[in-house]
Amino acid sequence: MASAPTIASFPSLEAALKHFFGYDDFRYYQRAIIEQALKNQDVLVIMPTGGGKSLCYQLPALLRLGVTIVVSPLIALMQDQVRSLKDNGIAATFLNSSLTLDETRAREKALLAGDIKLLYLAPERLMSPSFWPLLEQLQQTVGISAFAIDEAHCVSEWGHDFRPEYRQLFQLKQQMPQIPVMALTATATERVRQDISQQLRLKDPEVFVSGFNRQNLHYEVKPKTKQTYDELLKLIKQQPGSGIIYCLSRKRVNEISFRLKQDGISALPYHAGLNAQERQENQEQFIRDNVRVIVATIAFGMGINKPDVRFVIHYDLPRTIESYYQESGRAGRDGDPANCTVFFGYGDVATVEFLISQKPDEQEQRIARQQLRHVINYAESAICRRKIQLSYFGESFPGDCKNCDNCLNPVPLEDWTIEAQKFLSCVARCQERFGMNHIIDVLRGSKRKRLLELGHDRLSTYGIGQDHSVDEWRQLCRSLLHQELLSETTDGYSVLKLNGGSWQVLKKQIPVNIHVFKRAETTKASVKSDEIQLSGDETLLLGQLRSLRKRLADEQSVPPYVVFADASLRQMARQRPITSDAFSAISGVGKRKLEQYGQVFTQEIQQFCQSHNLTPNAASSSTTTSSSPNSGANELTATQLSTHALHQQGLSLSEIAIERGLRLGTIIEHVERLMASDRKVDLNRLVSPERQVPIFEAIEKVGSHSLRTIRDELGETFDYNEIRLVRAMWESQH
Ligand code: ADP
Ligand code: ZN
Repeated sequence: MASAPTIASFPSLEAALKHFFGYDDFRYYQRAIIEQALKNQDVLVIMPTGGGKSLCYQLPALLRLGVTIVVSPLIALMQDQVRSLKDNGIAATFLNSSLTLDETRAREKALLAGDIKLLYLAPERLMSPSFWPLLEQLQQTVGISAFAIDEAHCVSEWGHDFRPEYRQLFQLKQQMPQIPVMALTATATERVRQDISQQLRLKDPEVFVSGFNRQNLHYEVKPKTKQTYDELLKLIKQQPGSGIIYCLSRKRVNEISFRLKQDGISALPYHAGLNAQERQENQEQFIRDNVRVIVATIAFGMGINKPDVRFVIHYDLPRTIESYYQESGRAGRDGDPANCTVFFGYGDVATVEFLISQKPDEQEQRIARQQLRHVINYAESAICRRKIQLSYFGESFPGDCKNCDNCLNPVPLEDWTIEAQKFLSCVARCQERFGMNHIIDVLRGSKRKRLLELGHDRLSTYGIGQDHSVDEWRQLCRSLLHQELLSETTDGYSVLKLNGGSWQVLKKQIPVNIHVFKRAETTKASVKSDEIQLSGDETLLLGQLRSLRKRLADEQSVPPYVVFADASLRQMARQRPITSDAFSAISGVGKRKLEQYGQVFTQEIQQFCQSHNLTPNAASSSTTTSSSPNSGANELTATQLSTHALHQQGLSLSEIAIERGLRLGTIIEHVERLMASDRKVDLNRLVSPERQVPIFEAIEKVGSHSLRTIRDELGETFDYNEIRLVRAMWESQH
């Protein structure tokens, strides 16, 4: 304990970050949050899944005297975290019911000896009277540096995961008011945030809210048809890595996982019908990369921390937008590109509507219907999916995200006025006494017995709609309902009724435009994260490094991502480090990982380079990763050079930010430094030449000293980022 480092042992927080976790830069508000925590202030951290919340309490815990107590709701979650921390050489442990008495004793002893920096506990243990003596003893001997409350939304009845045990946590502030508390959650709703603050009795907490936009996730909605299973199979085959498939029922889960296995995909089911042990085993197989796909009901998800899930597919309709955000959010926590797909069909809508009608409480039914409508709106919409999701959380987003189906492959509006007239007149001929399916049957000339009995085959609209499929007619009907050009009774029978709008359409007073799903089979998106930007040799090397990682992980019984994240392996494949200095410049390589894995990985890389005739990177100082004699290069850091390498490969700045899991602002700082050191940067790719000209002129006029002054000169249509880039170029030339 005496030799444990403190904040004074490091020249900067960044140095501590690299030492313990191997990362070069902080993300989002991590730095500000950590600074605040180190001042012993209460903090409320709201960050989307994968944002990097854990680091916010872990790093301060390592830089302060005493132990930080982390409250975490699930045993699996704690075990995961502790495993990852230990692999970074950090003294962490947990106490829970899975331990024997002897193990518990040994851990308590280590705690009191000051050998532990982070202790993970479930809330019920922390609050149980039998635990308090140990807590007090800890406080009096080694000291408690902070309480961190993970998944803090569990304290709120308004959240979707309320846990009564969390309610007791208010006593922490009563009993030990001097100990700072950090509460962390990914919950997006304001109501829950307020509740957390109040329930935990936080003292003037500083609240940090990161945006909820998950830039690395690609969203898409596909129509559900009879071929959906084949499409699912194709989706899984065409993307690498692990994935989750969500279904509404256990039956569907079993069916899909069975079929996938038959089709050669390694898949396991997960639902509440399996016993706890089977569930635990299936989950573990997934986390360890022994099985690629988990097919699950919504019972699966919370409590898994797997950062490298590459796709989440909703085979059936999500329940609410919020639950969709959370479930799809389990993809790409590591910041690498990942795909989120929903298969949307009206059959599911009918199923969900039926389930809703079975609810006993009317108020509940109303809320559920409204939530369903939001989901349908999301699925049917032709505008940016991200914009819809974020606006649901009160975050304004301009749209045009370039990473959803609607933005990449816009659905054209089609004039369906004539079809709408046919449909509405058929509703009228059927005397406004039937629902959608019957109307479509009449239009398509069905020979159904009931229809013939009613004599509807003699209506003038009978058989006039055979030129469109059932699905297309349904889309039209839904769209008419949406646009309020048609009404539907809400008595559970959904009888179609004409309204004022319908008559305007029938009288040819207004046209009807609808978005018809007829997307081209392949969209431009569908990210193959690992293969992008890697050459053939690099991809081969990546494959070998993956196998090595898997072997090392199995030897230690840990999941592969605990050894290294995908992004670290990719960087290795690209930079080919064979010396310890070059290896330690890889993001994710801290002190401990270098000691533990440096040699095996660099050897593997060296062998690969020899057998493939490639030049390895044998840099002997971690500040240079290439042997280029370029002047000024010595002042550049490895992270800046990585940015440079990606720029030269043609990535845009935001792609580099996503690729590296860093803020755009950080990447721009790198580029500024690169230009200052005369590295080749293609400014035309970063700022269009037409915009460069006025910025150069403004700098000539008011000088380069103050960004503010330059911006004032240019006006609000110019943003600081582009000004910074052009200024850096100007300065490098003067
Ligand atoms: P959350 O709890 O917010 O969902 P995690 O704490 O699990 O997110 O972090 C998600 C991933 O991001 C982890 O793999 C973590 O190691 C990584 N990460 C966190 N902070 C950084 C950083 N500053 N640089 C690079 N990777 C980071
Ligand atoms: Zn979009």
